[in-house]
Amino acid sequence: MIAPNSEGFWELAVGRLVSIPASYTRPVLSITEVQHALRCSVDEVGRVLDAGFPLYAVDGGLRADARDVFNLAINSGSSRTLAEVSAAYALRFAIDGPSSWCRRRHWTLHLQLECPSANRSWLVWPLLAAPSAHSAGPSSRVECGATSMYSAIQDVVGSADTIRSPALREIVVDTLQPGPRYARVPIELSLDEAWMAKHNLVDCRSATRTLSRMIEARGYRVRECVGWLAGPVASEHAWLEVEDDDGAWKSIDIAFHVLAQLLLPDQVKSDVFLGSKPDRLLRSECPLDSPLVEHVDCVNEFSCRTVATARLS
Ligand SMILES: [Zn+2]
Repeated sequence: MIAPNSEGFWELAVGRLVSIPASYTRPVLSITEVQHALRCSVDEVGRVLDAGFPLYAVDGGLRADARDVFNLAINSGSSRTLAEVSAAYALRFAIDGPSSWCRRRHWTLHLQLECPSANRSWLVWPLLAAPSAHSAGPSSRVECGATSMYSAIQDVVGSADTIRSPALREIVVDTLQPGPRYARVPIELSLDEAWMAKHNLVDCRSATRTLSRMIEARGYRVRECVGWLAGPVASEHAWLEVEDDDGAWKSIDIAFHVLAQLLLPDQVKSDVFLGSKPDRLLRSECPLDSPLVEHVDCVNEFSCRTVATARLS
């Protein structure tokens, strides 16, 4: 492994990057912010840019798409970028393994919706009454314009289990065989199976959709789940649940599997996300093809954000 400050390190990382296609770009980060996100020197960020990292001219300055920066960082192998450090921190619950996931946990999710314009609307998919409940359908989105807050509780019990069905195990092995790389992409691209496969990329929605299609075709019942990974910073996530041959519902989380093997390979066992259910995934009503939180009719869009936390109570 080459050190991040060595000749060739960032050039290789940029060479591997699949950048966000032009029609989807949202260039918002300055070069100083890129340097901060990569936690590298001025010299290193210069090499990143010289290697062809995509920049866009906006209002007389050059800006980068935050997802390009994240995707470069998470797959860089530097161990020090903000993307790698924060994702490894979010996944550290997997180090103790599924045997520690089987207690009942009472979570409180809190969303703070920040926008400089008054009275702009936010649409939030609420948490399900229980993680295994059936969705109430599209009528259930909550409008959070006036308060800019959304709070909900959910009790979650995880499980420690393995996939029994040989057919399901085969599908998982086939999905992981090309060694897909994790990437953050817009929902439209994530659900474009041909585009993701062509670039050998995976994110939580793409993995959930691809697996769900293949597993349903073999006659198994599946649930495409969208919600939040609980923590001091809660993050959006999607995962698949499937009814195995033994009648138990199992969670298959290819995206977390790929991330854990990338970031914590010596600490997280390789089957942790293939059959067991984490006790910190809060399931919402949100379908796979919809954003979990949507901001409506705002001209500021780039300065508006969702701050999510989920704590035990
Ligand atoms: Zn706004």
